[in-house]
Order: sequence, then C-alpha cells, then structure tokens
Amino acid sequence: MTIEGGALGVMSYMVRPLFDEVFVAGDAASVRWIAFAIGGIFVLRALSGFGQRVLVMSVGLKVTTALQTRMLDHLLGLDARYFQDNAPGQLIERVRGDTQALQATASAALMTLGRDTVSILSLIAVMLWVDWVWAALAFIGVPVLMLPLAGLQTWIRGTSRRAREAAGTISTRLDEIFHGIVSIKVNRLEDHESQRFGREVDGFLSSQIRAEAGKAALPAVIDVVAALGFLGVLLYGGGEILAGTKSVGDFMSFFTAMALLFDPLRRLSSVSGQVQGAAASLERIYAVMDAEPEIVSPPAPQPIAPGEIRFENVAFSYGDTPILNGLSFTAESGKLTALVGPSGAGKSTVFGLLTRLIDKQSGGVTIGGVDVAQASLQDLRALFAVVGQDAALFDETIAENIRLGRLDASETEIEAAAETASVTEFAARQPKGLQTLVGPRGSALSGGQKQRVAIARAVLRDAPLLLLDEPTSALDTRSEGIVQAALARLSEGRTTLMIAHRLSTVRDADKIIVLEEGRVVEEGRHADLIARGGAYARLAAAQATEEG
Ligand code: ADP
Repeated sequence: MTIEGGALGVMSYMVRPLFDEVFVAGDAASVRWIAFAIGGIFVLRALSGFGQRVLVMSVGLKVTTALQTRMLDHLLGLDARYFQDNAPGQLIERVRGDTQALQATASAALMTLGRDTVSILSLIAVMLWVDWVWAALAFIGVPVLMLPLAGLQTWIRGTSRRAREAAGTISTRLDEIFHGIVSIKVNRLEDHESQRFGREVDGFLSSQIRAEAGKAALPAVIDVVAALGFLGVLLYGGGEILAGTKSVGDFMSFFTAMALLFDPLRRLSSVSGQVQGAAASLERIYAVMDAEPEIVSPPAPQPIAPGEIRFENVAFSYGDTPILNGLSFTAESGKLTALVGPSGAGKSTVFGLLTRLIDKQSGGVTIGGVDVAQASLQDLRALFAVVGQDAALFDETIAENIRLGRLDASETEIEAAAETASVTEFAARQPKGLQTLVGPRGSALSGGQKQRVAIARAVLRDAPLLLLDEPTSALDTRSEGIVQAALARLSEGRTTLMIAHRLSTVRDADKIIVLEEGRVVEEGRHADLIARGGAYARLAAAQATEEG
C-alpha cells in the first residue's frame, strides 16, 4: 500500500525536472532517465497494487467467516426464548448480511487508509515543497464544508440502520413464506403475500437509496472543496508565474500533485460514508454478541442421575401470564406416566421445565432427588430423549437423521435402531434404503414415517428418561398402530413421561395425570379415573362422541 500510494507523490515530483530540464532548458539527455523512471514507477505500482488487493481481500474474507462462526457459536448458547423473540430471518440477516456489509467496508477502508493516506501525505508534501502559500490556498474550502460533512455522516448511519432492519424483515418474510408455502397455496394467499413482500421491499429500497445518496454526497462535497482550491491557486499562482517569480515546472508540479490529491481524498471521504453504514451493521452484530443466556449451568454443578421425576409446588409464568400454579406430581422411575388435559393446560411447559429450556419461578423440579437447576446443562440434557409432535428432520439421509441421536453410533447400531422403530419397513421399499434423502424438514416422508425416524433417533440415543409429546397425534390409525408399537419397545423399562391428546394411547399408562390450568386435578389409572366420573371421565366421554 505504501509503495502504491507513494508512487503518486514521486510521479508528481518528476513533473518538475520534466518541464524545467527537458521542455524549458532543452536537455535531451534527461528525457531518457525521466521516461524510464516514470515507466518503472508504473510497473512497481501495478505489482504492489495487485499484491495488496489480494492480501486485503483475503484478510477481510477470513475475518468475516471467523466472525460468522463466532456469532453462530454465541447464538447456539442463547436461551430458547431468544429465538422466539428474534425471528430466524432477522438473525440470518445479522449473521450473513451484516458481516458481509462489514467485510466490504473493512477491505475498502483498509486499502484506502493504507494506500490513499500515503498518497495524500506524499502529495501534500510535494505541494508544500513547491510553495506553502499555494498549498494553504488549495485547502481554502475545507473549514466551510466541515459541518455539512459531519451532518452527512450522521444521516448515513441512521438510514443505513433502517435499511439493515428492513433487510432483516425481508429475510423473515421469505423464511415464513417458504415454510408456510402449503397453507399459502391452499388458502390462496399468493397475492396477499406477494403484495406484503412488495411493500417490505419498497421500505428497504427507500432506506437503502437514502443511505447511498448520503454516501454519494460525500465525494461531491470534496469536489466543491477542490473547485474552491483550484480557483484560489489559479488566481494567485497564475499571477506569480506571469510576474516570473515561479517557474512553469513549479506550477506544473504543484498542479499535478493537487489534481492527483483530490482523487484519493474523494475515495477517503466515500470510505468514511461506508464506515458509517458499516457502523450500523456493527451495532447489530454487537447486539447479538452482547446477549447473554439466562439459563446456564450453576457454578458448582452437582452430579445428576436418572430416577424419579418430581414437581413440587412449581409456579411458572410467561411475563405476567401465569401458566403453572403450584403444580405437584411424581413420575416414578421405570414407569409410564401420562399427562392429559385440554390444550393450553401447561403440558408442554412441564417438558420445557424438565429440560431447562425455560426456568421455573418457584417450587422444585427434581430428578432422582437433585434439582434440575443444580446440575450442569450438559449432564441434565444427556438424561433425556425427546420425541415431539414435530419430528425435526434435516435435509440429509434417513441414516444421518437417525445418527443425530448419538453422533458416534456405528452403521450396525443405526440399522438396529431403524429396525426397532419400524423405519426399515418403509425404508426397505426405497431403492437407496436408509440412504434415501428425506428432503427439507423431512418433506419427502409422511407424518408417520417422520415420527418413526424420530423414534429411531431416540432408540439410538438410549437415554434413561423419555419425553414423548403427542408423537401419534397427527397420524392415521394404521400408522398410529405401528408408531405405538415402536414407542412401546422404546419406553420399555424407561422412565417415560408422555403427553397425550387421544386417551386411547394412555389406557395402559402406569399413572395418568390430568392437568387443568396449570394444576393437577386428578391422577390415577385409566379404569379408576373412569370409575371416579371426574375430569378424566368427562374428557373420555367428550372424545368418544367426537370419534363417533
Ligand atoms: P399444552 O401443552 O398443555 O397445550 P403449553 O404448555 O404448550 O400447553 O402452553 C401453556 C400456555 O402457555 C398456553 O396458554 C400458551 O399460550 C402459553 N405459552 C406457551 N409458550 C409460550 C411463549 N413462548 N410465550 C408466551 N406464552 C406461551
């Protein structure tokens, strides 16, 4: 950068001997060395320019990718709650868009600062060396234009911030549209979505154009400075030449330096605009990096072992809305305990508290007598295998999806798990068997097949505590039968907590707990609860009529 930048200063310096010795004094011998010197400077400038661009770009790219990796690592450690408050599109835009905006600017700023600062200093040196009064005149416009320059910087930062936020909204919308494509189509919402997207894109457009206009205005201000400078130097310096106090070489050298000076100055001002834009991105990156998880391992974690699950007088609320009010129950070791009750009663909340995706406000949640908050998050979560309503498959093969249960599992273990969970039954019909791709979010599989893959994952995981969140709720009777059988094999001998909507699935549970509004209203075995004729019997009767 220094070589490339300094080359300009040397060139403008060379103009003086060129004029005074060759053109004015008529010294033919000098013409050769001056010509070669100028040619040499160009070659040197080309080589050093190439080298520094490659270097700066690769540094910029490495920094960006390292930053992206660090942001993701940080995000992975944040509470589940953070991802409810911040839409995926917004986070994607921060990890991808903001880091890229930063990279482009950082590279440009580095190059400009390294190279153009040297150019500017060397050119100013030449100007001062020729005549300091002329040099002072060249910068006559600067003081007047300081204020507009500062105002422009603030404006660019504000508009850039709004543009980045709008970009996040666009990504969020796209994410929602692509994930919700089926319901958009069946509800014929294509036009509605398209119009809404159009409005959001327009919002982004107007902020971005404002930011770009602000950036473009900065070099324009520099041009005005240049115009005033040239005017001053021409009027004053021109007189001195005519009067014979200065040589033509002096004037040409000065003029070359001044003409060359305003280009890097313009670039520098334009980079300062980009830096303001990048500052807006940087603020958004810091906002992610400054977020801290609330749910963390205690400083001195206790060992935790599988055992009885016990809730004692647990209270939990989302903001001001109480969800659980003094919930107490026990799920015995090695037994199947079912949680039933109307939707919204707090059944899934129980799972969240057990795995510490959320934290209780008061009361005790213990496993084998140890409070979940006393154990390290790693140890605690190692106790559980979870099969939820949504099988959460990734766009990989069936085998790879099963492997997520335990990353170091062998092929044989994966095949055995697939067999136990009745995955083999449908996978065998595919030409590629377990190597069949499941599509984005498992879209190439049916609901029942997805659930069976999720169960195979839990089988492979072989965790002592099993949490089942209505895994058969969305299935037809035949699939339900197969999945039920697979679940029965899985839960055999394990402490299992199962959320169930269809009461048919809990008949054989060792204990059924009926929740209403965050409280236990009844508990016992199926036959006893039916005989009692209370809340459970009413639920059962209601379902019997529904199913006709
Ligand atoms: P269930 O599993 O019994 O259907 P949940 O435990 O999922 O019920 O939810 C209990 C209540 O908590 C519901 O009223 C629901 O609206 C509320 N709720 C669940 N998640 C959140 C959340 N992230 N923010 C605010 N309220 C929530």
